[in-house]
Amino acid sequence: MTIPYINFHTHHPVYENELSLGCEEYGMDRRWETPLPEQEAAFRKHVLESEQNGKPLVIHCVRTLEDILRIRKEMQPLQPWIMHGFRGKPQQLQSLLSAGIYVSFGLHYNKESLMLCPLEMMFLETDDIATPIEPLYKEVAQLKGISEVTLRKKIWENARHLYHI
Ligand SMILES: [Zn+2]
Repeated sequence: MTIPYINFHTHHPVYENELSLGCEEYGMDRRWETPLPEQEAAFRKHVLESEQNGKPLVIHCVRTLEDILRIRKEMQPLQPWIMHGFRGKPQQLQSLLSAGIYVSFGLHYNKESLMLCPLEMMFLETDDIATPIEPLYKEVAQLKGISEVTLRKKIWENARHLYHI
């Protein structure tokens, strides 16, 4: 069997050899008009839902990392959380990893963070852009000094582990 390219989070139909998992996203965003306390209340509801349904939670986060980490600490969810479209610096990556949160990198990743992120904790995605994900896998494999197939396998294993596929 050919191992699919996991395109973790995308709003476009995936290409033939791709598989997308985390399309529904929840979170907090300072650019949104909704006041933060309201966003937090809604987010907490989605955390509970994810726990009740036994489904991983895909997190959208724009300049609200502290809030997300605080909520996680308070709620102590058992389901995996995956921060999608992560562009943050190594320091932010470290706080996510220490909290046990998976990270999905898109086309605009921070190179240093990507280099630091263990393969066991990462995903790749194209998000808003209608483009195949294969070149991103090639690029990341090269940066990490592994073959593209190894990277594809690793991320496929992560996907199977989280989504029981
Ligand atoms: Zn998002």
